[in-house]
Amino acid sequence: MGNDRERNVALEHKVEPLQDRFGRVARKLRVSVTDRCNFRCDFCMPVKPVWLPKSEILTYEEIARIARILARMGVTKIRLSGGEPLMRRDLDILVAMLREIPEVRTIAMTTNGFYLAEMAERLKRAGLDSVTVSLHSLKPERYDEVVGRKGVFERVMEGLKVAQEVGLNPVKVNVVMLRGCNDDEISDFVELARKSNLTVRFIEYMPFDGRKFWRPELLVPGEEVVRTIESVHPLVPMPREQGSTARVYRFADGIGGEIGIITSMTSPFCGDCDRIRLTADGKIVPCMFSRDEYDVKSLLRSGATDEEIASFIRDAFYRKFAGVESLLREHKTIAYVRPMYQLGG
Ligand code: SAM
Ligand code: SF4
Repeated sequence: MGNDRERNVALEHKVEPLQDRFGRVARKLRVSVTDRCNFRCDFCMPVKPVWLPKSEILTYEEIARIARILARMGVTKIRLSGGEPLMRRDLDILVAMLREIPEVRTIAMTTNGFYLAEMAERLKRAGLDSVTVSLHSLKPERYDEVVGRKGVFERVMEGLKVAQEVGLNPVKVNVVMLRGCNDDEISDFVELARKSNLTVRFIEYMPFDGRKFWRPELLVPGEEVVRTIESVHPLVPMPREQGSTARVYRFADGIGGEIGIITSMTSPFCGDCDRIRLTADGKIVPCMFSRDEYDVKSLLRSGATDEEIASFIRDAFYRKFAGVESLLREHKTIAYVRPMYQLGG
């Protein structure tokens, strides 16, 4: 076994892009940096989450090594997620390590916003480009109920404001739409987008069970959200970026802010999906709607070369599951896969 420099010689030149059996190419990496979370969103966390032992969680060096290998195979965007990514101490150190990878163009993070006000500046300085804050209600009491924690709404709103002030760009808001819970707040979120120049993304509730048990009746179709908004503010669709999970619209009257609709259930975009996931305990997950996962941590910790790791990931990604469309076509429904907090959203 050689040192890191020797190991990397084999990967000095870019290798072929990561491609699956359907010809889909991986360009985006989502990393769950921890499974732990200080919130208990009812659509995400089970009543009694089982946390991974600390020794099973990848170190920043291990995450950065996998990211470097993937970058040489064509990955250009990295999103940090969790659990709650800011539960991981000094996350800016990881951001700075990822920023040093020349092929990586964008580093983003999805967070519940609780620690954002205090961390935003450090993260920006370390090289974080953009942030998405999950915010499922603009009514403080309802928000607390959804996230299972009292008195945190103002703090999350402050995080959102500070993120904009320090220049993270874009700052987006993720709203998981739940029938009978927040589907009466569409217009409030639209006003937030317009007033604060934010991108608000309405996400269809997906069957990853938390305290709440997924039922089709709880899903608010993205089309319905668009119709509701258009009854007041006409929207102009923007060209869809390849591999994007969202349909994005701007306001026809030219007021700032954008609207995104993530129709993972009613109209998924699995055909050109370009994502690959790495779990906190070092599993490669090619598709979030499949139980298939490939343990790259054992390889990492047994002294494998970058070339061996690259070849392992290539084989894993090649077998990527067709996607949620095929599940719906063949089974008419989606079986429970795993809780979202273990995957990184
Ligand atoms: N803790 C961070 C947060 O909440 O933003 C990052 C991890 S969270 C698992 C990533 C994203 O998945 C969040 O926007 C969250 O709202 C969303 N999410 C969680 N469970 C979901 C579900 N069942 N359906 C749709 N989106 C879900
Ligand atoms: Fe935590 Fe995010 Fe899951 Fe909410 S959605 S419980 S904040 S991981």
